[in-house]
Amino acid sequence: MARKAPRRDTGDDGLEVGPPKVWAAGVPGVAHSLMTSYAQMGVRRTFLTLARVNQKDGFDCPGCAWPEGDHRSPAEFCENGAKAVAEEATVRRVTPGFFAEHTVDELARRSDYWLGQQGRLTEPMHKAAGSDRYEPVTWKDAFSIIAGHLRGLASPDEAVFYTSGRTSNEAAFVYQLLVRRFGTNNLPDCSNMCHESSGSALNQTLGIGKGTVSLDDLHRADLIFVVGQNPGTNHPRMLSALERAKRNGARVVAVNPLPEAGLLRFKNPQRASGLVGRGTTLADRFLQIRLNGDLALFQAMNRLLLEAEDTAPGTVLDRGFVEEHTHGFDEWEKHVRSLDWADVDEATGLPRAEVEAAVRDVLAAKSVIVCWAMGLTQHKNSVATIREVVNFLLLRGNVGRPGAGVCPVRGHSNVQGDRTMGIYEKPAPAFLDALGEEFGFEPPRHHGTDTVEAIRRLRDGEAKVFFAMGGNFIAATPDTAVTEAAMRRARLTVQVSTKLNRSHAVCGEEALILPTLGRTEQDRDRFVTVEDSMGMVHASRGRMRPASLHLLPEVAIVCRLARELFGPDDGIPWEEFEDDYDAIRDRIERVVPGFADFNARARRPGGFALPNAPRDERRFPTATGRANFTVNALEVLRVPEGRLLLQTVRSHDQFNTTIYGLDDRYRGVRNGRRVVFVNPDDLAERGFADGEIVDLVGEWPDGERRAEGFRVIAFPTARGCCAAYFPETNVLVPLDSVAETSGTPTSKSVVVRLSRRTPDGG
Ligand code: SF4
Repeated sequence: MARKAPRRDTGDDGLEVGPPKVWAAGVPGVAHSLMTSYAQMGVRRTFLTLARVNQKDGFDCPGCAWPEGDHRSPAEFCENGAKAVAEEATVRRVTPGFFAEHTVDELARRSDYWLGQQGRLTEPMHKAAGSDRYEPVTWKDAFSIIAGHLRGLASPDEAVFYTSGRTSNEAAFVYQLLVRRFGTNNLPDCSNMCHESSGSALNQTLGIGKGTVSLDDLHRADLIFVVGQNPGTNHPRMLSALERAKRNGARVVAVNPLPEAGLLRFKNPQRASGLVGRGTTLADRFLQIRLNGDLALFQAMNRLLLEAEDTAPGTVLDRGFVEEHTHGFDEWEKHVRSLDWADVDEATGLPRAEVEAAVRDVLAAKSVIVCWAMGLTQHKNSVATIREVVNFLLLRGNVGRPGAGVCPVRGHSNVQGDRTMGIYEKPAPAFLDALGEEFGFEPPRHHGTDTVEAIRRLRDGEAKVFFAMGGNFIAATPDTAVTEAAMRRARLTVQVSTKLNRSHAVCGEEALILPTLGRTEQDRDRFVTVEDSMGMVHASRGRMRPASLHLLPEVAIVCRLARELFGPDDGIPWEEFEDDYDAIRDRIERVVPGFADFNARARRPGGFALPNAPRDERRFPTATGRANFTVNALEVLRVPEGRLLLQTVRSHDQFNTTIYGLDDRYRGVRNGRRVVFVNPDDLAERGFADGEIVDLVGEWPDGERRAEGFRVIAFPTARGCCAAYFPETNVLVPLDSVAETSGTPTSKSVVVRLSRRTPDGG
């Protein structure tokens, strides 16, 4: 039987399609920021709020994790940052009256966009088992319900505690403490679905699961690869950094199946020339690679670098670095010298001359950085691909010196910090030792569940309580039909949220919504801290009046639940933590390496950099004590005749699962989301025309998966590939289709066929 996403309002009735844009930002970017902000917040609130975002004494943008430089302009935000702030600081409200008008079933049939547009949650709400309606509940009763369910479990491992990347360091620390004190490591997070592959590959090869560059390195690089990433939509202020690097003489090589506007040209709205001129060409070279071709590309470049060294010995490889700091070169070299060029041609779809030209760029560059995002991390072979990126950089000593290194670009504002604070299902023994010693208990040592395993356990009835600290789990996860059914089996689901989303409507038998403060809002006179994509930790202090008097900060929600669960005599001072975040930071300092003098340094304008051994000292804390070359088998993903390889992508009016609007300005789409971008030659070969309505069908051993009713858009994507938005196409990604080692769902390489819909829509 086919698995389909349930039928919902789509809001696509007025879909219009025009030509894609060939540059990003500029005047339209400013106009769209302001229009969205005015609509959600009004003029006064817009200016009050945006004046504080990403300022040293302000709040951290709730959008992506891109870092801020030391010198801040009065407008330190991008179009999508402004949209993220507007969504949170909106004056729209979801009150108990709203829930009285709408049943849960009715909410489940609404679109993600409609749900998000209803505004901020204002009071704790409870759906009793058997009821189809949320009703107000006191905080006290809410905590008592959760504690009752948790105490009633046969094992702490029957509960799952999810975290999204918005959660502050302080909230994340007390949250993982509560969970481990309760007795489980079931701490899946959104990282499992995005950069887990980066963490797996980098830990093994460099000994740190994070990037090794600073913003300054990016500005100083000679050559920057931007691979599988669309910064114009997903990390827009990265474009300013690339522009600055180019002014300093850098070249940029973009590697992507889609020719995204933000990879081509940037009109910087902070500069007069960006507003009225032609802007800056970003990509000096655009390699329009096939989906899943990146491992082959980097192996091919590595092979060409070895051949260049053969031709001019001692001039290409950094032999001194390789000998002093790395391990495994000889075995790796043997493997790469046996590379089959036919495989490379087939996997990448690139002419050999383009690969050779990119290698000439590398040979001309003293310092090279490789940046990447989900385009690299969500394939079956993602960990192998990122390990090969590391091989590429190690060859010429491009790690641990200025202007060089690895740069996985993080998606959600504190996703990296949450992991640093211990939100991880596979915690290191040293972390557990420190935690147990500090708080006088024995943390559980067995590994917990990641996101995919959590869904399996919910599906199989082995997990019974699901608690989400932020996020929209149902929309973020793969295999929608399976995941929704799994969530509905839970005895209790709890969502700590700022806004209404699908995970409130697709819930367990009994369900709670706990409304919390957003980043923009005052938390008395306290501040929290976050860690950006480049390991800078800094304070975030909201100034706006909270959306409702009934909201609690995330820290308070955790600490009050802990007191209810463990009783007033628990050895951990939850009441003190709720009141005084400095007390939490003191404990973080004693448990998490790199946070010495945390309270003082958090108060420094701009914060402080966490230690990064590969970057700071060329020290690689791996199993071998060196940076590891790794051998990565190249298996070409062969797509059956007539099928296409689909990648799920965001629209420009979207941040992760939050849908700000129905337009995708850069790709020429207005007022709709059910579209699939296909190369015109692939359409012609398969007998389809631009504008037709199709179903996207995935064929798997356990049956077909079908996403219905997508308008075909002829688009200059790489041959054999297509793209469509998530969460609409999550239904096509089977739960068990995950990256090797990291377990990340393979949302960037889904084999599909287009199936024509009949005129009656069937
Ligand atoms: S680049 Fe990211 S962090 Fe910066 S303003 Fe834009 S969305 Fe926010």
